[in-house]
Amino acid sequence: MITKRIGIDLGTANVLVYERGRGIVLEEPAVVALTERDNAVVAVGSEAHAMLGRHPGSIQVVRPMRDGVIADYLITEALLRYLIARVMGRMRLVRPEVMVSVPVGVTSVEQRAVRDATEAAGARRPAQLIPEPLAAAIGAELPVGSPRGHMVVDIGGGRSEAAVISMFGIVAGDSVRIGGDRLNEAIAQYVKRRHSLVIGERTAEEVKVAIGAALPLARDEATGVRGRDQVSGLPRTIIVRSSEVVGVIQEQLAAVVQSVRRVLEQTPPELASDVMDRGIVLTGGGALLRQLDELLVQETGVPVHVADDAQRCVARGAGIALDHIDVIARSMPTEEEALVGQPLPR
Ligand code: ADP
Ligand code: MG
Repeated sequence: MITKRIGIDLGTANVLVYERGRGIVLEEPAVVALTERDNAVVAVGSEAHAMLGRHPGSIQVVRPMRDGVIADYLITEALLRYLIARVMGRMRLVRPEVMVSVPVGVTSVEQRAVRDATEAAGARRPAQLIPEPLAAAIGAELPVGSPRGHMVVDIGGGRSEAAVISMFGIVAGDSVRIGGDRLNEAIAQYVKRRHSLVIGERTAEEVKVAIGAALPLARDEATGVRGRDQVSGLPRTIIVRSSEVVGVIQEQLAAVVQSVRRVLEQTPPELASDVMDRGIVLTGGGALLRQLDELLVQETGVPVHVADDAQRCVARGAGIALDHIDVIARSMPTEEEALVGQPLPR
């Protein structure tokens, strides 16, 4: 029997599974629905996501990766178990080889938690881990094994990670807990303050995707937004423009720009010069925000490209990395490095 080899992107917004020889086989929101009483899992992925903001009090819908690595171990394990079971189908007896992406700066305790949860969920031991930006770069088909500097910036729901990579190693990296979620929150707060309208996070995200941009668009766009009037408590629809959204999310985007700058500053000159030549590659769903590449060009002076299929690069890279297990293992911080290294900002 052949062993399945899969890469898992355990994102804060979406979980994806890439299978060698097949490609992306599963793509679901990183959401789990549980009973309030005994934490039994009732739905996972898109089915659970559909319950967000609509579920009865007896069920809670949680995003196990929300702000950090593993917010809740058992829920994460349940999510992994579901993903692995779905991919394995009836081949349950043969444990798959699994590579899971983890954020830069993950502590050894957090690494162990992900590894244990993956193994408990049915992966062959030892489950492999790969730093997210390295997976993103491999998935974006950058030749990261070469002795040149390659820079990626991955913008997810809960985090943005920037790194310069050379010979499969992270030369300089930075991770900030600012991603698409913060942009959604900023939009929801603005709509409440400016229009006295309360909207949920899903609605705010729809606004961002529909008309959001990092810089003013050549032609302003607008969309109708439905929410609950703060005063009357009744449903009401307002119009929001791209130009408003651009202003509302500037502060969050500035923090991402700062993180990218920090990485460039820490990069040795030869590798920085490679990055100047080749440019920065953007991955993750947040990379799809219009004009974000342009904003980064303006703020860093470095050319920027959005990767093809940006939201799937990490999963694809994690799967492909199973061919390079030895070198990838070396790119993970060791127990000691993880202890002295910078922990994830809280
Ligand atoms: P994670 O790695 O945290 O799971 P993803 O890489 O899947 O996150 O990206 C999810 C984020 O990308 C969400 O915040 C989502 O709103 C955002 N996103 C997806 N598409 C777009 C778009 N077209 N414009 C702006 N943001 C987007
Ligand atoms: Mg991600």
